[in-house]
Amino acid sequence: MNDCLFCKIIAGEIPSAKVYEDEYVYAFRDINPQAPVHILVCPKAHIACADELDESNSVHVAKCFEAIAKIAKAEGLDKGYRVVNNCGEDGGQTVMHLHFHILGGLKLSDKMI
Ligand code: AMP
Ligand code: ZN
Repeated sequence: MNDCLFCKIIAGEIPSAKVYEDEYVYAFRDINPQAPVHILVCPKAHIACADELDESNSVHVAKCFEAIAKIAKAEGLDKGYRVVNNCGEDGGQTVMHLHFHILGGLKLSDKMI
């Protein structure tokens, strides 16, 4: 867990452009944005990927989505946005700490892939 990039960002050991933080959640701007608004929303708890979720830890996902609604309002995404989770190698996940991408600020493609 100590080698986890996002755990280090959450701990303040690596700088980030923080947009939101509470007891459960830390959110910051993606360093390589794919949309005018591109924010990563992470549980503070280290959960490697969506595949590790079960009834013992799903509260962290609920807290992420509560934060997502607040962040979207704060960012002015009143016309909508997309929430993306990449899971595992085939899903394109590159950082193995669960996170949700908020993508917005433009009309997104109707294609999922
Ligand atoms: P994923 O491919 O779903 O695992 O997403 C990882 C995301 O983390 C990518 O969109 C990267 O651009 C982003 N990223 C990697 N390192 C950093 C960093 N130090 N600060 C902010 N975003 C980062
Ligand atoms: Zn982590």
